[in-house]
Amino acid sequence: MPSGVCSGCGRITNSAVSNWWDTSGKPTECYAAFVDNKWVKGCGYQSADDLTRHIVGKIIAGPPKEQKPEPKIVTHDVDLTKIHTRRLLKMLRTKYYGETSDLDDLVEGPSYYEIKAELAKREHIPNKVEARKARQEKAKKNKTNERRRG
Ligand SMILES: [Zn+2]
Repeated sequence: MPSGVCSGCGRITNSAVSNWWDTSGKPTECYAAFVDNKWVKGCGYQSADDLTRHIVGKIIAGPPKEQKPEPKIVTHDVDLTKIHTRRLLKMLRTKYYGETSDLDDLVEGPSYYEIKAELAKREHIPNKVEARKARQEKAKKNKTNERRRG
């Protein structure tokens, strides 16, 4: 739609929200004016009819904000002391656990630190590398012992 300066207030308006068509494109009254990159009430807003005010109200409010779906909140009311150490470790690794794998979902429940604190009470479970190292050291020890014996 064409736009131009309203002679009533000197601000930019357009054909839809001024008396543009009554004055052959030389508006003397605007119902909405464009100032600092946003629409505001124009100099003729007070005298505008309800329909025009409704339109101006919508223009000033701007386009409707995109509605994001509410995130699903999954609550895990869990007793960490009853969860197996390996499961706790997995929970720590994945951060997201339980029935949801949708990263958009918020997961409520034990935090990283709560899980960490619970794990600190447990006996350490060696990971693969640690387990192999332990086996090798045990084997080495056995060999030395055999040699001494022999
Ligand atoms: Zn004006």
